[in-house]
Order: sequence, then structure tokens, then C-alpha cells
Amino acid sequence: MTPRETISCSGFCTRCGREHTLHAGPAHDACRELMRALESEGRIDLHVPAAEADPRFSTDVLFSESRGHMFGVMVYRDAFGVMGTAKAFSGQYNGVWQVEGWVGPVVDVARFDLLNTPGERAIKAVGRRMESLPSGTAERLELKRRRRAMSRELMEELFGLYRLTNFAGETRPLTGVFRGEGIPTGTGDCCAPKLLHHAVTNHLTPLGLAEFYWGRENRSGSKRHGRFYPACEEKCRPILGFLLCGLAC
Ligand SMILES: [Zn+2]
Ligand SMILES: [Zn+2]
Repeated sequence: MTPRETISCSGFCTRCGREHTLHAGPAHDACRELMRALESEGRIDLHVPAAEADPRFSTDVLFSESRGHMFGVMVYRDAFGVMGTAKAFSGQYNGVWQVEGWVGPVVDVARFDLLNTPGERAIKAVGRRMESLPSGTAERLELKRRRRAMSRELMEELFGLYRLTNFAGETRPLTGVFRGEGIPTGTGDCCAPKLLHHAVTNHLTPLGLAEFYWGRENRSGSKRHGRFYPACEEKCRPILGFLLCGLAC
């Protein structure tokens, strides 16, 4: 096993002034088990019989033009000392946030949509007006600026809906957790934050967490089918120090 396979999530904690790390540990084998299920079933709605499978949850989409996805498994011990596993996919699966048997998003989807749907509509309307004007005109440039400002504002409002709690019992909005400038789109939607948030809110102690990529390799070629990857640098590392705080690691 290479070191990149054993270290699964880590990040610097400003409260403790050091790095907190959660290793893959038993989650590695749990991931392999999930891979076998995905391979043999060809779908992610594994809790229903094949005859009732929802075509939206077929793994065919992962091998299409829309490409693969990250999946994660966490092995935990609950308040009664019983071990279990929880699994998550990053972001949405084929446009769906919540699939039975999988840990849901950190954010309240209804509240997210309530803000995002009209916000996106307004941004698109400005974009259409901009496109209708000849390039280089002052009006067009002004609309371009406006569209950018609206997008940034919407993103900030959406991130404000993500409230993260760590194992030390501290809760903060994502905007107060992220270490660094400019929070990338999709922060908080990866497998690790979903699984850790699930653990905290359900009083589970994570014993290991691992993530793997499944499907056609991503455009940049940095993620390949069936390979393990640590939590991502750009979106997860800046929040993992906070999220892991209070977990003896
Ligand atoms: Zn990530
Ligand atoms: Zn800490």
C-alpha cells in the first residue's frame, strides 16, 4: 500500500495549531467491497432489487461524456460500540443530491434550491442581455461586471447555508471555516465532509475514511478508475482541520 492510499484526510487546525489526520484504516477494505458491488450491480441504488432499479442511478453515466465520480466510505463505531459503515458520493449523482443508502449533503437541499434557483435565473437573464449587445460596448462590459458580482454574491449566500460541526462540538458556517482566499464551487460537497458531518451529527466515531474514483477518467487525467485518492487539496484540505478537530487524531 502506498502512502497516498493510507493517508485519507488531513488539514491544519487553527484551534490546536497543528494538523489533524484521519487515516484510511479499515475503510480501505470497505471501499473495495463497495467497488465490487458497483462492478457487479452497475448501479448505486444498491438497496433496491435489480428489477426496481432507477435508471438515473445506473453507473453507465460514469463511463459516459459526463465522466466518473469520487466515492467515499467511512468505517465508524457508534455510541453503543457497534461498528458500521457509511458511504457517500461527491456532489450530486446525475443531478440528484439524495439517494437512499448514501449519506446526504451537508447543506439543506430545500434551502439551497430556494436560494439557488432564482439566483441562477437572474444571472442567466443578465447573461442573455449581455450577449445581445455588440462586443466592446460600455453597456456590455457593465453587464459583464454585474453578472460576475451577482455570481459571487450568490456563491457567498449559498456557502452561508453550509454549517459545519466538528468533534469538539464547535459549529461554524463554511465561510468561517475555510482557510484561504476564494472558496471554490462545490466546497463541502465532497465525500469526506459529507461523511464527517454525518458522523458528528449522529454521534459516530470515525475509525477510517477512504475515497476512490469510479468511471471514465476525468478530463485532466488526474483521476483514474478504481484508484484511491486522499481528500482533495483545493476544497477539502482547507476545511478538514476544523472538521477533524476533537477526534483524537
Ligand atoms: Zn474534496
Ligand atoms: Zn483542532
